[in-house]
Formats: sequence, structure tokens, C-alpha cells
Amino acid sequence: MPEFPEVEAWRRELDAPVAAYPIDRAGPVHVATLKTFDPPVRALEGRRLAGAERRGKRLLFRTEDGDLVLLVHLMTAGRLRYLDPGEKGPKAPAFRLCFTDGAELVLTEAGPKKRAGVWLLSPEQADEELAHLGPEADEVGVDEFAEICRADSRRLHSLLRDQRAITGIGRAWANEILHAARLSPYALSDQLQPEEVERLHEALQSELRRGLELRERGLGDKRVYRIHRHLREPCYVCGTPIAQVDFEEHTIYYCPDCQTHGRVLKDRRLSRLLR
Ligand SMILES: [Zn+2]
Repeated sequence: MPEFPEVEAWRRELDAPVAAYPIDRAGPVHVATLKTFDPPVRALEGRRLAGAERRGKRLLFRTEDGDLVLLVHLMTAGRLRYLDPGEKGPKAPAFRLCFTDGAELVLTEAGPKKRAGVWLLSPEQADEELAHLGPEADEVGVDEFAEICRADSRRLHSLLRDQRAITGIGRAWANEILHAARLSPYALSDQLQPEEVERLHEALQSELRRGLELRERGLGDKRVYRIHRHLREPCYVCGTPIAQVDFEEHTIYYCPDCQTHGRVLKDRRLSRLLR
């Protein structure tokens, strides 16, 4: 699933082009993709977007008149593309906006499952829809982050992915961040030493910055991730083969030397004894 670096790179790319011309036609939209029915998406026609915003892993497009907010959550397989006038696009996208100059914004989703969502909301409804989200991962300060860690006793991998605690991080960047911080994915958030909290905060900031920089240069997963999905490849720090373990509904990738003092983590779906 796209996380902060991916979604923020797209936001920057889309910000100017989506605001260049008014919307000529809005839709069609796949019935499973559209999550709201009132107002209808056609209500966007004739209006101009103010640009692209991001909240966590979601993209928001407000109309310039301040009346409507188009909210897009791409989930795992959704992709948004801006097509220049005349540029060839997909035949049946999940959602399409046509601008008056002939450019298009299209949402596509690979695979048969339609999980990406589009919401058309009033600004108040949009605020409500996003109210449960915690502070932006790239903006959270070290003191606030320390409070989030202390607030509850959570496995670090789980806490970093919890959008109510901090928003913008998923399983891929949780793997990258915990490796950079040299902390076990199973370590408990309220048992970290102050120095470890600082290290985790610093890793969070620097990994998200690194990710954004590489995504803005158009690099793919294999080059951007150094730990995530690099099973058995040498750790970029110490050369130990990267290991994996199943935890909750996710597969965690980690370096047993850098992060767990040589210990192999146990599958948390089977064993509740080791961390
Ligand atoms: Zn290592």
C-alpha cells in the first residue's frame, strides 16, 4: 500500500496540473469505488480544483470555491494518473475526471478486487471522515512522539502502523524505520529508553525523507526499500541475511543482527512467548 513517501510524491506531482483547468466531466465511477452518493460526482463539473492535499495515506482535492472535497484512498492497488491532453489512458478506469483542456485524472486499480475509494464530501464531512487520524508522521515532534510511545504498551511495528496514533506509515516503511532505528519490531513502546525513543523518531524522519526523495525521482520498490521484501539478501549495514516473521496480518522483514541481538523472532500468530 502506498504510504507517506509514495502518496506525498504523487501529491506534489498532481498539485499544479489538477488546478490548471476546470473540470468538464466527472465520472463515470465504478460502483464499488464510489463511497458516497450525495452530492453526485457530477456536482464537480464546471468547478476548478484548488490543488492536491494529503492527509496520511489519502489524497484530497478541494474545489476552489470551497464547497466540495474529493477524497481518494488508493488502498493497495489503486493508482492515480494525470494524462496530458491526447495522452492514451486506460479504457475503463475506476474513476475519471476530464478537464476542459482535454487532460484527465484517472484512478485505476490492478486486480479484480475494488478496494480503492472515492468520496465526494462537504468540507465538514471531510473533517469528520479524517478526524480519527493521528498527527502526520513526517511532522510529529520528538516530545509528542515520546508521549505516543508512552501512552500505551504496543509492539513497535503495530504502533507505527496505527493511523490513529501517527498517520502515514504502513508495513513497508515500518520495516525500514525499525531497521534504521536498530529496534526490534516486537519491542514494547512503553519500555523504550529515552535514547531509543529519540533514535526511533530520528529514523522515522530520515527514512520518510529518504523515501520521498527517491519516489520523487521515480524509483521503484526494489531500489527504494532496503529491508522490506529483501528476504535472505544481505543487510545493508552488517551483511546478515534479512529474515521475515508473520505478525498480525503482516509479514515483517528485519535484520536479526542489527535489530534483535541475533534472536530469531517467533511467529506471533502461534507463539505469545517471545518478543
Ligand atoms: Zn544488519
